[in-house]
Amino acid sequence: MKKVLETFRPGSIHMVGDGFHVRNLFPSNALGEAISPFLLLDYAGPSYYPPAEPPRGVGEHPHRGFETVTIVYQGSVAHRDSAGNAGVIGPGDVQWMTAASGVVHEELHERRFAQAGGTLQMVQLWVNLPARHKMSPPKYQEIVRARIPEVTLAAGAGTVRVIAGSFQGVRGPAATFTPLNVWDLRLAGGGGAEFDVPDGHNSAAIVLEGRAAAGSSELGDAEMALFDREGTRLRLDALQDTKLLLLTGEPLGEPVVAHGPFVMNTGEEIYRAIKDYQSGRMGRLA
Ligand code: MN
Repeated sequence: MKKVLETFRPGSIHMVGDGFHVRNLFPSNALGEAISPFLLLDYAGPSYYPPAEPPRGVGEHPHRGFETVTIVYQGSVAHRDSAGNAGVIGPGDVQWMTAASGVVHEELHERRFAQAGGTLQMVQLWVNLPARHKMSPPKYQEIVRARIPEVTLAAGAGTVRVIAGSFQGVRGPAATFTPLNVWDLRLAGGGGAEFDVPDGHNSAAIVLEGRAAAGSSELGDAEMALFDREGTRLRLDALQDTKLLLLTGEPLGEPVVAHGPFVMNTGEEIYRAIKDYQSGRMGRLA
């Protein structure tokens, strides 16, 4: 069984734009290569927002060199980007946006949700791209709830929504550039399950709500366990009804140079990204 290397608590709540109260699990915990290919995990909410007009959120900003994955649990988020893609991400939906060579986008509370006010709960995960794909064309996968298969665990232990990768032979809808799994778990209190993880993958479990045990470590809301790369099986036990994300991925093993919304392999590439954004080469919002 994989061992837990370390457990982590989030940094203090900070605002992203004026619409997302988030707790960051990484990179604030400086996990580096131990969590590659994942770069960032912000857990937003659950937070109540009173009615607002215009909608709260994050205005026009760029990304280059990686993918942003938005998983919504409660509330509704509207997205619009310079590649011409737009969509609404509601409860159970996932947006998998490949920024790659660069996009400019905005992420706002969906208009009707903003007008009515309500609770927002979502995760944004950044997935790094290997050097050979960092300058690929941008891509956008809108993955609605109905397209995400749900696997029922044995003995009533809970369910696994397979967003990316595969679980017990069931493939998730997200196309990825490198081997990885994103599993959205609901574990029933008192239940437990074992999960097969591909050999050599980094892996981490993040509790969104509830309480779970990984080996001798206990995790509460917004806490994370990082597992040893050794071994191909890990076990999670729910001490109460618990929602978790389980991430596994093959480490990229490439240098990471990050500067705000740009994640490249060298400082020179970051310099070029800033120049390309400033000169409009990543496009603009219509
Ligand atoms: Mn963004």
